[in-house]
Amino acid sequence: MKQPISGYDGAMLGRTYDNQLCSVARALEIVGERWTLLILRDIFFGIHRFDEIQASLGIARNILTTRLEHLVDEGVVERRPYKGNRAEYHLTKKGRDLWPPLLTLMQWGDEYYTEKPPRIIKHRGCGGRINNTLACRKCGKPLRYRDLDWEWGPGADEAARASTEAA
Ligand SMILES: [Zn+2]
Repeated sequence: MKQPISGYDGAMLGRTYDNQLCSVARALEIVGERWTLLILRDIFFGIHRFDEIQASLGIARNILTTRLEHLVDEGVVERRPYKGNRAEYHLTKKGRDLWPPLLTLMQWGDEYYTEKPPRIIKHRGCGGRINNTLACRKCGKPLRYRDLDWEWGPGADEAARASTEAA
């Protein structure tokens, strides 16, 4: 009998993917919750404080708290003290290792859902745009997380621009 790919037997997914023998399902347990990838995106792009992430996303505070706690528990994000009992949220290595899928998703969204990208990713110091294999279009170097810079693109709205000026 032919085995279904990744153990998926065609049954409807339950509320969690616990019984899925698949690394995609395991990864989705972490990043598949509503808002989580957008929270990670904001942290990638330099927004680190709770209130700023909350303002950027317009997300309810209790949901943001729950999502951040989950990311901290999973070792994707770390909480760093900042001014008294306030905190900043930074990516761990495990979190930074999510940048290729995140950027690839962003490029996919740019390709199919917008003619004006809100953000443009560039090779730091070189200025080349990033290609779909995550290398620099200008110099051809493969790009790592720390090689990246970004700027607002033609699709960014004023609120988005203002959110980073405040950060
Ligand atoms: Zn380059």
